[in-house]
Amino acid sequence: MNTGQAAVGGRTRAVAAEAGPRPGSAAEAGGTPAVGAAPAVTAIAGGVGAARMLSGIASVVGQGSITAVVNTGDDTVLHGLHVSPDLDTVTYTLAGASNLETGWGLAGETWGVMEALAAFDAVAGQSLGWFRLGDKDLATHLYRTGRLAAGATLSQVTSDIAKRFGVEARLLPMSDERVETRVTLASGEVGFQEYFVGLGHAVPVKAVRFAGSEAARPAPGVLEAVERADIVLICPSNPVVSIGPVLAVPGVAEAVARRREATVAVSPIIAGKALKGPADRMLAELGYEPSAAGVAEMWAPYAAAIVVDNADAGLAPRIEALGVRCVVAPSVMSGPAEAAKLAEAALGAAP
Ligand code: GDP
Ligand code: CA
Repeated sequence: MNTGQAAVGGRTRAVAAEAGPRPGSAAEAGGTPAVGAAPAVTAIAGGVGAARMLSGIASVVGQGSITAVVNTGDDTVLHGLHVSPDLDTVTYTLAGASNLETGWGLAGETWGVMEALAAFDAVAGQSLGWFRLGDKDLATHLYRTGRLAAGATLSQVTSDIAKRFGVEARLLPMSDERVETRVTLASGEVGFQEYFVGLGHAVPVKAVRFAGSEAARPAPGVLEAVERADIVLICPSNPVVSIGPVLAVPGVAEAVARRREATVAVSPIIAGKALKGPADRMLAELGYEPSAAGVAEMWAPYAAAIVVDNADAGLAPRIEALGVRCVVAPSVMSGPAEAAKLAEAALGAAP
């Protein structure tokens, strides 16, 4: 389901014509005619919310115009394999290969390896069965782990995995270095996947930190992609644990803040609730308002505009008072048509 540009040329032109080239933009610098050229979009992305948004963006500007800087704070080692859940969610979704029922993994999976592994639980005295990896999905993790062990960077492997799935968008990990999201619970600190998958994120969070972020460098191309984009998009992903780690990589937050006038955020919180996952509870537990206004306040230093759902139209005056332009649009991406509409609203929200 790669969204070719040809099929959406009309809409591509409409966006570009409305928006025009932006200062320092690829279109301006390269002398590419503004009308007919799709705007270059650089997205700060987590997993599912971002993947849906990027599919919508792709249907408007084409995958080739997208660079996604993806959270790797959720990355984990399972059965000795390097798993990058957010990169894989974005890759599989843009490939049209994701499992729409589970919301993670690949469609049409088989579970032979998991079943065979479960036979070891009794002797091991413990089970890793709480994190399920399908057979085809495992091939991705085997490939990634093998390449990393042989000296490739996560950027190189990510690019090759995207190629194998026919994804034309440029997918960049936020960093090639390990940055690990750690969550403090009443019982102590755990890794992100243990909280999110193992405990089903059903416990209150006291603090979140991104171990290793101080020493990490943005992956090659990340800062340039933010600097050169026509539009920078902060996806409707969990602000704390999906966007937070990306902005915690030294230099990234500053680069986005410098592009504030070209940056649009989309709220993952609708009527005070996350559509999925713990974002609403997490915001409240960490002292933020769990609402689109709370999200706008978090992103005010980075984004000149935010798209909020119709249900949150009443928050617009408060959001505008923060100095953030508030665009109200239906923002539940229940299918490709809704995602495309939201994408048009987001792209149109850029000045
Ligand atoms: P994860 O890493 O897979 O948990 O995914 P993200 O952090 O990218 O996405 C989780 C967030 O996406 C949740 O806070 C959801 O509210 C948000 N989300 C999911 N689907 C939609 C949607 O259709 N519209 C909006 N506005 N937000 C969404
Ligand atoms: Ca994630």
